This record gives sequence, C-alpha cells and structure tokens, in this order.
Amino acid sequence: MIVWAGQAMLDTHEPVRAGAVCVEDGRIVAVGTREELHARYGDAPEEGGDDLLLMPALVNSHDHGRGLGTASLGVGDDLLETWLLGLGAQPTIDPYLAAAYDGARLLRSGVGAVAHSHNPRRWDDQRAEAEATIRGYRDVGIRVAFHPVVVDQNQLIYAQRDGFLASLPPDLRPAAERFAQVPPLDDGAYFALCDDLHARFHDAERHTVHIQASPAGGQWCSDELIGRAVRWARDHGTRVQMHMLETRYQRHYARQQWGTSFVRHLDSTGALGPWLTLAHMVWVDPDDIPILAQRGVAVAHNPSSNLRLRSGVAPVAAMLGAGVTVGVGLDGHALDEDQDHLRELRLAWTLANAPGAASPTVEAADMWAAGTTAGAQATFGDAPLGRLAPGYAADLVLLDWRAVQSGFVLHHADPADLLLRRASRAHVRHVMIDGAWVVRDGVSCRLDEADLVRRIQADLDRPPSAEERRQGEAARALVPYVRRFYAGWEE
Ligand SMILES: [Zn+2]
Repeated sequence: MIVWAGQAMLDTHEPVRAGAVCVEDGRIVAVGTREELHARYGDAPEEGGDDLLLMPALVNSHDHGRGLGTASLGVGDDLLETWLLGLGAQPTIDPYLAAAYDGARLLRSGVGAVAHSHNPRRWDDQRAEAEATIRGYRDVGIRVAFHPVVVDQNQLIYAQRDGFLASLPPDLRPAAERFAQVPPLDDGAYFALCDDLHARFHDAERHTVHIQASPAGGQWCSDELIGRAVRWARDHGTRVQMHMLETRYQRHYARQQWGTSFVRHLDSTGALGPWLTLAHMVWVDPDDIPILAQRGVAVAHNPSSNLRLRSGVAPVAAMLGAGVTVGVGLDGHALDEDQDHLRELRLAWTLANAPGAASPTVEAADMWAAGTTAGAQATFGDAPLGRLAPGYAADLVLLDWRAVQSGFVLHHADPADLLLRRASRAHVRHVMIDGAWVVRDGVSCRLDEADLVRRIQADLDRPPSAEERRQGEAARALVPYVRRFYAGWEE
C-alpha cells in the first residue's frame, strides 16, 4: 500500500510536497514522492489526500495508563509528595478498561507507542493487573513498553521518617504508619514477575510489547534493588525506566544521604548507561548533565505534569545541548487531561526556550525529534520506530493539514513550525500501527470507545468501600503535616 499526503514528514522534520511511503507487511519499504512510488509500485493501492499531512506516529515516553486524568478521578493537583497520598483514594478502574481507553485516546492524538509505568492498585496482584493492562493496549492497537514497578524504601517520607511519625498527633500515627509501609512485593517476587512477563509478552521482533524493569524512583529504591534491575534488563536485552529528580526534595534527599547528587551517586554504583531512561529530571544539577550524555542515559521529559504537580521546569535546552536523548511523556497529566501529545510537544518547545539573549534556542526540529526518533530511542531502545524510513515500522499518522491552517494555505509559514505551533489531537484523522489502520476518521477501528466509556462509568459509579473512604480521609488529614515537613527542607 502507498500512503501519501500533500505534506509528508519523511525521515526529516522538513516536509516533502506530495510525499509518500510504501508499506508492506507492517514495514516501510520505500519513501519518496507519490509520483516516484507510483512509478515503482504501480499496482499498489493508494490512500491519502492532498489536504493531509503524513507524519510518523508519536512516542509517549512516560505514562501510567490511568484511563482518566487524576483531577477527573478526584485527586486534585498538588505537590508530588502530598499528591501521592491521595492516589490511593482514587476510584478503582478495571486495568484492562483503563489501558484500552487510554490507548484509544493516545492513538486518536497520534501516539503509536507508550511507556506505561504501572501504579499497582494491589501490589500482591500486580501480575493480573499487568496482564490486563497489556491486553488492553494490544487490543486497541498501540505499542507499549510496560514497566512493572517495585519500591523497597522511603514510602510516605524520604528520610527522617521516625521523627516525622513522632511529630504527628497520636490519632494520625496509625494511618501514617500504614502509608509508610513498604508494599508487599520483595525483590525475588518482583524479578520473578519480570521474568514471567518478559517470557510471555516481550516482542523483540515486531516490538508490539516490551517489558522493562522499573524501580519506581531513586529515593524509593535501594542501590541494591536498582543494581539488580539494571543487571536484569541487560541480561534480557531490555531497558530500565525510573522516576528521578522530579522534585527539589528528591535532590535534597540525595545530598543528605550521600553528600553528592543523585546522578553522581548512581554513576558510582554503575547504574548509569544506555539501558536507562530517567523520567522528569527537573532538578538535575547543570554539572551532571554531561555525565548523562557520556553514559548514554535518556530522559523522559514531562512538562505538563511538572507544572501541575508544582515540580518546576526541566532544563531541556541544556540536556539537548549536551547531546542527551530526550523523549516527551504525558505522565497522565496533560494540561487539559486529554492526552494530547501534540500540545505536550508545543508546551515542551515553548518552555525549553528560556528568557534572555544568553539562553540557547531549541528549534522545532529538536522538539519534533523528542516526539519521534529520540522519544522512540528513550522508550524502545534501538527498535525501528519513530521514523518514516525504509526498514522502520509502518506507524504513521495522517493529519487534517487544511484544518491545522484554519482553512488557509499558509505558503509563507514553515510547515514544521506550523505543525508544532498549531496542530492538536483534534486534527488527527487516520492512524496506522504496524501496517494496520487502528484509527479511521478519528475513530478507533479496534474497540467501541462508547462501550469502554460506559464500562468505566460503571466503575466510577461504584461507591467507595469503608476502607477506601478511611484511606482518603487519612490522606487528607496527613497533607498539612507532610507539607510542613518538606517546607523545612527548602534550600
Ligand atoms: Zn510518572
């Protein structure tokens, strides 16, 4: 099949007029102009249109597959450290439905591959949740890098926990102690789960599913656990993704703990390497950015989430300038709770260009790469994703280019600038993944989204159990104390 459009982003951020790709057995076998490919593959059926723009499917380099945004689930935005308390009180949505619906929304926003960092509802049943989640993504037709998650320390408070607990009013202490417990999943059970999921789901040929290790975050995992995750990933030819330096308090924790930065400490343990992707990195020290580049560590940048959870703005221009591979992730926290990856790239691009003549300039091409080629590298390693080039997977999007231009033909504007400045999920018309159409005319071809919505609504309508209500009340009661504790950590 030949897929063509009036403008095509063929292996470059410079669009090609009347560009096309030829797709065979899920792969791109040739790119060029429509005319060239028509001459070479005359009998191949054609799809496309002059008013469309053809681009590679985007890669969402860090997310959680919750189905709905957290504000929609009743967990209002707050500082990460207090916001996390409320996560346990969100309504339980069936993990299959959450993944299928999240996947459908991502596909409709032009995303063809997502990193799913799992937030277990039941740690002792993560296997069942993982299977259901992977099935949900597969059924809707989106690629997933699935991260089963593990933590082994520092729940509730990163350090000085006994002092914190002792400072609480006595009636709050039992609830705080429950929040402070390490979840019931030890190293042995975790890596057995990784082995099992990897054996059953990891697809090193077509890259529909990757299984990657995920110690949840630097402060929540011991050096031993992180080291073991790295060894497991290298033994299995896969990757590790962790949350890292999301908040200033995490940076402070590293200083208190080791008298040095997180990056330098992890480097001293041998954890840093091209197998690793670190999500957030808002509070990375400027001096440490070259270390990330030297070790080949990738970063998943989450600008909306970092604004909504009041974490800050990551130094993306410095990372790109040093040669760090940067992808962009929605983290379930798009500004409009709509999983719009095009708008997320727009926000990332805008924030990356800081005030002042001395600040470096991040070009549209850099941010385009973060959404495609670099994003694929950060999320799926060396898998042939993120480019419209021969040998790459046929993961592509057709946008309504005339609508992006609001009905004009904007001859004078740079199409790459227009794409990043004006396009949104509303303009996505058709999406092909692995050579098959999964969205046509803005509608999933795989699953009935209205049915998913009805079934998720039924989960949302279920009243919380007495235990869930108690958990929510305890979380709300603890918030001011946790906030006061970290306020004492201001540098
Ligand atoms: Zn996250």
